Amino acid sequence: MNEAIPSGGDNAAQSDDHLVAYLPDLLYTEDRFARGLGVVCDRVGRIVEITANIERVPNVVRLSGQAILPGMTNAHSHAFQRVIRGRTEMRTSTGAMGDNFWTWRTAMYEAANRLSPEDIYDASRMAFLEMALSGITSVGEFHYLHRTPEGAPYDDPNLLAKEVVRAARDVGIRIALLRTAYARNNFRRPSAYLYQSRFTEPEPDIFIGHTEALRRYLLREDANGMAWLGVAPHSVRAVPLDYLREVFAYANEHELPIHMHVAEQPAEVDECIAEHGRAPIALLDFEELLNERTTCVHAIHITQDEANQLGWAKASICACPTTERNLGDGIVLADLLLKHDIPIALGTDSHAQIDLLEDAREIEYHLRLQKLERAVLRARRVQTSSQNSTYDAASDLSGLARTLFHCATTSGARSIGASGGALDVGSPADFFSVDLNDVSIAGAGAEDLLAAIVFTLSRAAVRSVVVGGNCIVRDGKHPAQEEIISRFCALQNKLWRKI
Ligand SMILES: [Zn+2]
Repeated sequence: MNEAIPSGGDNAAQSDDHLVAYLPDLLYTEDRFARGLGVVCDRVGRIVEITANIERVPNVVRLSGQAILPGMTNAHSHAFQRVIRGRTEMRTSTGAMGDNFWTWRTAMYEAANRLSPEDIYDASRMAFLEMALSGITSVGEFHYLHRTPEGAPYDDPNLLAKEVVRAARDVGIRIALLRTAYARNNFRRPSAYLYQSRFTEPEPDIFIGHTEALRRYLLREDANGMAWLGVAPHSVRAVPLDYLREVFAYANEHELPIHMHVAEQPAEVDECIAEHGRAPIALLDFEELLNERTTCVHAIHITQDEANQLGWAKASICACPTTERNLGDGIVLADLLLKHDIPIALGTDSHAQIDLLEDAREIEYHLRLQKLERAVLRARRVQTSSQNSTYDAASDLSGLARTLFHCATTSGARSIGASGGALDVGSPADFFSVDLNDVSIAGAGAEDLLAAIVFTLSRAAVRSVVVGGNCIVRDGKHPAQEEIISRFCALQNKLWRKI
């Protein structure tokens, strides 16, 4: 369904016939917007040139009145949770504690146990469509649905994972399928309860065997770099320590990205200390499990020492602020993390909202509310050859926005093991364009456009989205959009309404 770039004929390998140039008014490359540059893609979907000289390129797509930016990476997604959007925004608890993450989780479990494999495909396709329409070109899917609702294995233990990968492929975005290990209900409670039986593979050798089968399948089926494997021990709550060690050893052997929910809730930290004598990140550090391929998702309730440990290990964190505010989780200490040069990726997690630029601005805005200050996070300077020149942060209108956009692009790509994240020669041709005359950003110039985009862009301003040289969104629309929405509406009716 993706629109392939022109093939260029039999002699394409020897000529430039297969090249396609996209020429916007402004192009974001090397941390700034430049005027008059085009991005040239080859037939395998790589950027081969960024140049003002595009006359020799036979196929030119002119994006007048638009700016091109590198595609964003959504590093933490549970695609099926799209089906409960709007269905958990009411008070259900009558107790003194009120509603919180744990009461929301009960609603999520109920939905998770009602979905057939085809339902999971439809829900995932809907979530990925919305991502594509907002400029997201890669996703890290933290996938923990493995079994039937009754807890029985499918004939193919990776049936549901393959449905999610199929959904990403049909929408046209890249996916790191982060296959999730889930072993027990909670700290010191060895077995899962009924609602979790769909997630559970209680023995590490079973999990690793199924995961290895999926790794080989993805290598065989998706050699073009559109889908690959990572592993995701769910949390220290759901995975005992011995199991955790084996999963990390497997991931390290194959150099896979490793994601894990860490320190999302204070109760999780308290119980981890009660079981292991250490908080979650301190435990991972003590066990020497943190490394440059590890991403700690959330990492909200952490100490200064734990930030040090993440920094020394060169681990990443993934902040999901639109979900974290929705669930009342707390505020990611992004200033502390950046002080330790810890890359911060971003995720839309529960999909209460899918707008990664909203996540980007929230990591700054939440700190403003907490500290009663403005512009808390440090500016990212443009990388130039003359770094010794005096830098005037006060006149750099897009410095803070560069920091946040770097999280949504380069740090996200690093976290899920994707190449790219920036518009550079040799990188995948993954990018999106925005309408410079959209009411949300109209009037911005090259110097303040990134700040306008990061802090105010309406998602409706996204016009084209290109992944691996394929234009999957054109004029703000995906070619399968109506069918995907129609199928999703039917699913929601089936799940929630008697019609
Ligand atoms: Zn999550």
